[in-house]
Amino acid sequence: MSNKESFIPIAKPWMDEQEVQAIQRVIRSGWVTQGPEVAAFEQEFAGYVGAKHACAVSSCTTALHLALLAVGIRPGDEVITVSHSFIATANSVRYCGANPVFIDIQPATFNIDPLLVEEVIHERTRAILCVHQMGLPCDLNSILAIAHRYSLPVIEDAACAVGSEILWDGQWEKIGKPHGDIACFSFHPRKLLTTGDGGMITTSKSEWDRQIRFWRHHGMNMPDTLRHGSAEVIFESYPILGYNYRLTDIQAAMGREQLKRLPETIQQRRFLAKRYMELLKDLAGLRLPEEPPWSGSNWQSFCLRLPDHCNQRRVMQFMLDRGIATRRGIMCAHREGTYAGIPPLKPLPESEKAQDHCILLPLFHQMTEADQDRVVAVFRESLLL
Ligand SMILES: *Cc1c(COP(=O)(O)O)cnc(C)c1O
Repeated sequence: MSNKESFIPIAKPWMDEQEVQAIQRVIRSGWVTQGPEVAAFEQEFAGYVGAKHACAVSSCTTALHLALLAVGIRPGDEVITVSHSFIATANSVRYCGANPVFIDIQPATFNIDPLLVEEVIHERTRAILCVHQMGLPCDLNSILAIAHRYSLPVIEDAACAVGSEILWDGQWEKIGKPHGDIACFSFHPRKLLTTGDGGMITTSKSEWDRQIRFWRHHGMNMPDTLRHGSAEVIFESYPILGYNYRLTDIQAAMGREQLKRLPETIQQRRFLAKRYMELLKDLAGLRLPEEPPWSGSNWQSFCLRLPDHCNQRRVMQFMLDRGIATRRGIMCAHREGTYAGIPPLKPLPESEKAQDHCILLPLFHQMTEADQDRVVAVFRESLLL
């Protein structure tokens, strides 16, 4: 690449002076750990997704860990999930001493295939952990029907799905209401709303929300703000084993600004995704992303299935050499060394194919139509390799 200026990254967080001001406000206040900003962020987030409770934590990984603990996952239990996800999905199950039972995905949506759930349910199955991969809602209607039949809780890994929507009883609703039992979000910079690192847990069950709030703060029986603001000397206690999974007020203040930007960024991503589709639709053998009529993606990623003759790594290298970052398809946890001892019960051909034959193109709020045209032009060239 000749000109460093023109490098197009795979993603880029959208933030500016508003976030800087918000963080300054927190620093000047003198209170920087979990406090009033976290409480305000939780309320605003709950309002946005339509959830009864929202509890902020340090990441989506810690959110998933606490969500699994809340529904009662214990050592030796089994949780049905996908291998085809960021490794944190499966890892969170193992933090509970439980085992992930991997099932395959639908090739068109890259999401859990509901038709494969029932055949792996048996006496040790305790929950279903489904993923809204790349921001596209999974088929919750079908998953919940099965879960209800077997009385299994459903946890939604909504790491990528902030602002994504699902058609529910004839109404468009935000992911995270939640439609399952608990939903977990990520605020990592690769997602649409970032706090550097951070996460949120939403649920309508007050008992779980209360429990999760204890766990995130060392199992301590009162929040710091209460002790700090008290005119009387009070002693805290630690009745249960907890963790330090808190979000800071610095992060929450940034999150509140990011939440304000979210509707606009989703609108822009939908525009850019649609434009990619238009620009790429004539390419023979290329499979474009699909959105079922009941789902509204936030387009966290734009994932293409390459024509059969194409070599994924060569396409990616060709584009990188011309200043355009791409990523391969979503990874499969079961292929990683740390999962060598937990082989899938059945082969996962669609998950593996998606990892090996897909690429993600750059998509971010500040991307211009000229950037997009350049990505498409170089991508077209790469297919001729
Ligand atoms: C990013 C991601 C996570 C992990 O989120 P962190 O906030 O980085 O812990 C979990 N699951 C999926 C599907 C993700 O994309």
